[in-house]
Amino acid sequence: MTPYESVIGLECHVQLATHSKIFSGASASFGGAPNTYTDPYTLALPGTLPVLNRRAVACALKMSLATGCTIRRVSRFARKHYFYPDLPKGYQISQYDEPIAEHGRIDFLLDGTPRAVRLTRIHMEEDAGKSTHVAGAAYSLVDLNRAGVPLIEVVSEPDLRSAKEAAEYLRAIRQLVRYLGICDGNMEEGSLRCDANVSIRPVGDVAYGTRTELKNMNSFKHVQAAIEYEVARQTEVLESGQRVVQETRLWDEGRGTSHPMRSKEQAHDYRYFPEPDLPPLVVTEAEIEALRSSLPELPLARRARFMDRLGLSPQDAALLTAEREIADYYEQVVAAGPSCDPKRAANWVGGELLRELHRDERPIAQSPVSPTALAELIALVAGGTISGKIAKDVLATMYASGESSKEIVAREGLLQVSDESELLRVCQKVIEANPKQVEKFRGGNDKLLGFFVGQAMKETGGRAHPERVNQILRRLLA
Ligand code: ADP
Ligand code: MG
Repeated sequence: MTPYESVIGLECHVQLATHSKIFSGASASFGGAPNTYTDPYTLALPGTLPVLNRRAVACALKMSLATGCTIRRVSRFARKHYFYPDLPKGYQISQYDEPIAEHGRIDFLLDGTPRAVRLTRIHMEEDAGKSTHVAGAAYSLVDLNRAGVPLIEVVSEPDLRSAKEAAEYLRAIRQLVRYLGICDGNMEEGSLRCDANVSIRPVGDVAYGTRTELKNMNSFKHVQAAIEYEVARQTEVLESGQRVVQETRLWDEGRGTSHPMRSKEQAHDYRYFPEPDLPPLVVTEAEIEALRSSLPELPLARRARFMDRLGLSPQDAALLTAEREIADYYEQVVAAGPSCDPKRAANWVGGELLRELHRDERPIAQSPVSPTALAELIALVAGGTISGKIAKDVLATMYASGESSKEIVAREGLLQVSDESELLRVCQKVIEANPKQVEKFRGGNDKLLGFFVGQAMKETGGRAHPERVNQILRRLLA
């Protein structure tokens, strides 16, 4: 069998988080009752004219800057014609041969290894409405709330080489648009969508094979599964001596397969022409520079800084920079206590706190435990006031009640027992109660030390200072 290589390029549609639509004042929100976020322009009533949304342009420029694109100082809108009930004007306003930005790149990690995918272009356009085809019914439903919601389309070069890599690339886009605050990245609600172009070629070939375009995948998992299915399908087609047909295929997540939707349209099918109702989009150097200086530190740079400056492991650094808000929270914890060791803080934020938040599906910005409160708790452990084990329970109580760690420790009498004579008494008691284990330990079974430590911790309700207990037990058992 010929070994084949997959060649994949993604076209990602990013809904921009503006209040109003790209060419009119109607609400761009998600989830309203059907056809309530409309106005005469959205409905394409005769005589209505588009007015470009300034904030949508700022969002598009932020993404262009964050991906190192060359920004076109004068870009143009064009009409892309096709006929479908959810497109009232009969054309979509998009950008064609003069998009707002070109030639950028997206950096991301694939199993910890840096990868870069080139971007062909980023262009602005309006979304279409949503059609719902009712099974068995002789009609379809059209909701125009989404019609005219601002989008950017981020088009990659065919640089991706596996389904998994495509999914990681898409995760990086989601992370980036969320860092930039230009899109909520919700794939289920369709704020982030992608079409995958897939072809295969014999390993070593330079020319690309014929591609198909996959649509209708609304999660990372489905993007990956749809591409894997398509690569396998194309491999079978070629192996049986047939040719891949250029077409658009629809992913059926229920069946885990795709089927042809239409033969691939060509650019001339759309009869693109310049949009006569909008002037060219002109952006000034000053606008670009103002936006450039407003950009946040980007995910990979922040991850690198957490590793280099704070000494975090690659895994911790990735976890704590997954979301901008998590990274902000973490840095506030570290800043709150001069005695707050960054690695220890990373364990608390990335471990216990995120676990509590995930369970509640609560964003970290709404954490009942503030960064300062967490820093205080960490200081109590570092200073030996409470044990690390008790601290976990204290955090759970802080999370549930909003109390401070000091209040909880005082009320519940959780102070760590470090007093030598008290610990000695506990250890002696444990040894007396377990003569058999003592005999085995003295007979050479070193592992039993853990058992004794555990008993001593139990005896003190988890409050004993573990290292001291360890030392005392070793001494008594020697
Ligand atoms: P269209 O706009 O008709 O979909 P484009 O030429 O703009 O066509 O390409 C769209 C996407 O298809 C891009 O992401 C590009 O990287 C990808 N692509 C182009 N050729 C191939 C190919 N042979 N195999 C896989 N992807 C491809
Ligand atoms: Mg396409």
